[in-house]
Amino acid sequence: MTSDTLSSPENKERNMTENAMQERSAEIAEGQITTAHFKVPLPGELICIAPGIFWLRMPLPFKLDHINLYLLKEEDGWTLIDCGLANDESQTLWQTLEQEYFADLPVKRIIATHAHVDHMSAGGQLCQRWNAPLYITEGELKHLNLQTDTQTLQSSYLAMLTASNIPEKEANSLSQMGSQLGHMFSELTAPIFFMQDGDHLTIGDYSWQVIVAEGHCIAHASLYCQQAGILISGDQVLPGISSNVSVRSDDPEGNPLQHWLNSLQRLKSLPADILILPAHEMPFYGLHERLNQLEKDHHKSLQQLRTALDHQALNGEQNQDYSVLDLVKVLYPRALSPFETVLACGECLAHLHYLRDDGFLEKTTDTSGIWRFTRASLASVNPSDKNTVTG
Ligand SMILES: [Zn+2]
Repeated sequence: MTSDTLSSPENKERNMTENAMQERSAEIAEGQITTAHFKVPLPGELICIAPGIFWLRMPLPFKLDHINLYLLKEEDGWTLIDCGLANDESQTLWQTLEQEYFADLPVKRIIATHAHVDHMSAGGQLCQRWNAPLYITEGELKHLNLQTDTQTLQSSYLAMLTASNIPEKEANSLSQMGSQLGHMFSELTAPIFFMQDGDHLTIGDYSWQVIVAEGHCIAHASLYCQQAGILISGDQVLPGISSNVSVRSDDPEGNPLQHWLNSLQRLKSLPADILILPAHEMPFYGLHERLNQLEKDHHKSLQQLRTALDHQALNGEQNQDYSVLDLVKVLYPRALSPFETVLACGECLAHLHYLRDDGFLEKTTDTSGIWRFTRASLASVNPSDKNTVTG
């Protein structure tokens, strides 16, 4: 056990957290994204971030190989934020953590930032294990139920991939693969408390403000503590990864990018120097810089699509329109794996719906049921017999 690791004597914890807070002020560099210098937790280890606030990691068997979870300590128990996967490897780590840290202090509640599989797969199982209630937004409980209804999910994926012009055989196997993720969620039978935007959760000495945002999912909850100067950001703000913003198959005409950009704007009202505890990668400083980067990246993608569609206008190809799959190649010119293709189609569609609602392009459906995108000014001077899809 290192000096960064939580050990049982209270004075050691106090010294350690004071050191962590002192080091923190030295780390903040104005106008930059700076990694916070905490030791990365080993499997089954807790790292103290601030008094009563701890960081742990659980493994993921994906390209992104971990999720960060956080534990908030109070006199009568722990609050766990996010859950990881319900698999044997995670179960073994939870046993280690129980022996080391939870023997005298139970886990009394679990908070889910959102219902993606890496965050909530083990949710039901852990609630049952510790007889703890789940705190989640109403939108994310709906999201969870949509994902576990694998048959409906598969047919809605198939409809969206087919309309995106993915060949039938590939669309079938991708929709089957995507819906199988629903089987990774453990059954949820625990009492549920809904969190709403603006709620304040008092946990130990801290009050955590719930900030609900749409775009990455239906209703993602981040937790902001003004007193500690900390945002537990889930997938809402990650230091290096740009969170996936996709049109969801249950809302195929939605405009999630507009919601996402609105949510980034809203987060800029938080102080610039707070510590961000994300669900993936490292804790960091530089919230406003990161929000600006994320915005800029999406606006760059929007501009690439505008340029591609304008090129069509410039070349006088007035009858040409594009499918989602055609335009995916504008944003992602490299070869994509099947899973990446699904994510790329969803992201591309999110950008196309933003441009549709912005009046830049028009979305129609051809006689084969494929969505087609045309520069709006061309569409208006060249009315076709296609049916306009309204969003
Ligand atoms: Zn997520």
